[in-house]
Amino acid sequence: MLSLTAVMAQTTRDTKMDQFINRLMQQMTVEEKLGQLNLPGAGDITTGQASSSDIAGKIAEGKVGGLFNIKSVAKIRDVQKIAVEKSRLKIPLIFGMDVIHGYQTVFPIPLGLSCSWDMPLIERSARIAAIEASADGINWTFSPMVDISRDARWGRVSEGSGEDPYLGAEIAKAMIKGYQGDDLSKNNTIIACVKHFALYGAAEAGRDYNTTDMSRVRMYNEFFLPYKASIEAGVGTVMTSFNEVDGIPASANKWLMTDVLRNQWGFSGMVVTDYTAINEMVDHGLGDLRAVSALALKAGVDMDMVGEGFLTTLKQSLDEGKVTRQEIDMACRRVLEAKYKLGLFADPYRYCDIKRSKKEIYTPAFRKEARSTAAQSFVLMKNEGNTLPLKKTGTIALIGPLADATENMTGTWSVAADFSKSVSVLNGLKSSVGKQGRILYAKGSNLTEDSVLEERATMFGKTLRRDSRSAEAIRNEALQIASQADVIVAALGESAEMSGESSSRTDIGIPQVQKDLLAELLKTGKPVVLVLFTGRPLALQWESENVPAILNVWFGGSEAGDAIADVLFGAVNPSGKLTMTFPQNVGQVPIFYNHKNTGRPLEEGKWFQKFRSNYLDVSNDPLYPFGYGLSYTQFSYGNIQLSDSLLRSGQPITASVSLTNSGSAEGKEVVQLYIRDMVGSITRPVKELKGFQKISLKPGESREVTFRIDEEMLKFYNSELKFTAEPGEFKLFIGTNSRDVKEAKFRLQ
Ligand code: BGC
Repeated sequence: MLSLTAVMAQTTRDTKMDQFINRLMQQMTVEEKLGQLNLPGAGDITTGQASSSDIAGKIAEGKVGGLFNIKSVAKIRDVQKIAVEKSRLKIPLIFGMDVIHGYQTVFPIPLGLSCSWDMPLIERSARIAAIEASADGINWTFSPMVDISRDARWGRVSEGSGEDPYLGAEIAKAMIKGYQGDDLSKNNTIIACVKHFALYGAAEAGRDYNTTDMSRVRMYNEFFLPYKASIEAGVGTVMTSFNEVDGIPASANKWLMTDVLRNQWGFSGMVVTDYTAINEMVDHGLGDLRAVSALALKAGVDMDMVGEGFLTTLKQSLDEGKVTRQEIDMACRRVLEAKYKLGLFADPYRYCDIKRSKKEIYTPAFRKEARSTAAQSFVLMKNEGNTLPLKKTGTIALIGPLADATENMTGTWSVAADFSKSVSVLNGLKSSVGKQGRILYAKGSNLTEDSVLEERATMFGKTLRRDSRSAEAIRNEALQIASQADVIVAALGESAEMSGESSSRTDIGIPQVQKDLLAELLKTGKPVVLVLFTGRPLALQWESENVPAILNVWFGGSEAGDAIADVLFGAVNPSGKLTMTFPQNVGQVPIFYNHKNTGRPLEEGKWFQKFRSNYLDVSNDPLYPFGYGLSYTQFSYGNIQLSDSLLRSGQPITASVSLTNSGSAEGKEVVQLYIRDMVGSITRPVKELKGFQKISLKPGESREVTFRIDEEMLKFYNSELKFTAEPGEFKLFIGTNSRDVKEAKFRLQ
């Protein structure tokens, strides 16, 4: 049965578009229709070479619907010209790219960006990415990735917004708004693609591309939320995931792609597979390329990324009656609709304005925004004795393999970046300090002693210039430098390609050689600040016990070095809050705040109790909980005031706390609201984020922070997958992170 949203989507169709596409499709042969479903990678054709490339011939024959991984107006104009001048029906191509966290002006990796909890800021970063990408010829981005991720071993946690469904949904909406704006046909908006549908973040053992298996109740209540919110926000396209769901790979999963996505959620846009995901179903064990291509089409997939299974087999499947003409038409129609909405039929060169490409990419204004955004993504994890902020006077020893690592700053998935232009920590500190103080630098160690691992972790030109000397020699040089300094800043952690796609890890610590360096630096007795680079939660038990100050900077983008200086010297007060739990050790993973209570919960603050749900060797507590992050000032919370302890249907109540900046610096606090349903027809999480507000306060200033609580917020999918609120008792928590909260109770009538 169609849901209300699905019905509404169908009744608000654009009749002009329908007429245009009907007329066009009447002229199309089956082969031309299949051509529209084909999305090859361009292998980035050299300018002027487009017409002699392999792809050129295919485009002219009408066998290509779009291209991805091609950039620059000149090249894109070249290939578009082939499509609209040489192919029989002159249908323009769509041009996609992984514009994941900025284009040439690179913003923090998505996991970092999510820690800002700042929706206007996140929307703005996507807006700038869209302006730059569209100025360079791109009109389709494979973003946002909204896969809920709870397993820090999985490298792709860096590409998403962390573990929480509610926050993930809010961020997805902000990003889609940023990319698509309110009119897709404008030349500076691009069509977004929510991915990877579905459950990609739940790969078993955190190993990329691995199997997922979960209950429908968990899918609907937790993992589906950000995808569904993206559909409601009007995302134009959806990408299938590599993994299976209920034993059927997503790209052949009719229940997912048609029943849920289209019929329940009302999605009317285009579905593209992930890279060769159709072909991979042969290895999944679903049949040969012809069989799996037919399965994908029948499941509701419209466009085939790279694999050409659709292009090469569907005609035969049609002749054999394995797929229908209607199924091919439907997929073709959706591809054409995406192009129509982008305005490509009206002007195929809409995104090929050479003037824009010169004026609107990597501008000083955008770089400035990237710098301030990066600073908002950093999370201050520890700051014993106010080690931070630092003074600019005196001598600072900047040590570590990531300190002078220009190529490393942008992190994973920064395909349009010019790495040589990024600001390293060294350059950021130097230009901030100027003549007021001295910055000394030494590498201190390689990324890791294992050169093979280092090679894997520095791919795509993100070199760390491996030093061939012995670990001891490199370290001694650094200790000599450190001995001349008043304070030591250690830039350590992961390299950019140590997280991201196909970068899963079983050891989620800082590599040993860097830890050894850190231990030696601490022995100098000088204050040490750990500037931590990472694309995932790391196990930092030892570091958190021994290092006085830890600033987690993720991968902050092209301007990160300046942003790091801004925060280290206190020009910006850090306010980021973790969106993924940091474990004590890898054995606790997956660890997340919104877990179930179980029948044998461990009493809070206790460890160990026989026959309770816990470990012999480590407590259940995270090292740093979800929502956690310090500031250079302190915030104090008053008790929760409820407007009523009884919530009646249709009559919302409010919950307020008074928040005071009790420290001496101006700062921002993310006030978090969590709710727990105490009794349900199915078990409910111990806490669920239901709201948050980012508040800026001057020293001594107080503000009443109020949340509205209504019945809608208490709804969940029950065992029949009915979305409903159940009367009874609820707990409500407000606080500075998911652990340190004030508490109140109310009832739903
Ligand atoms: C990734 C996608 C990406 C695609 C195109 C795949 O390997 O899983 O996230 O959009 O490649 O580059």
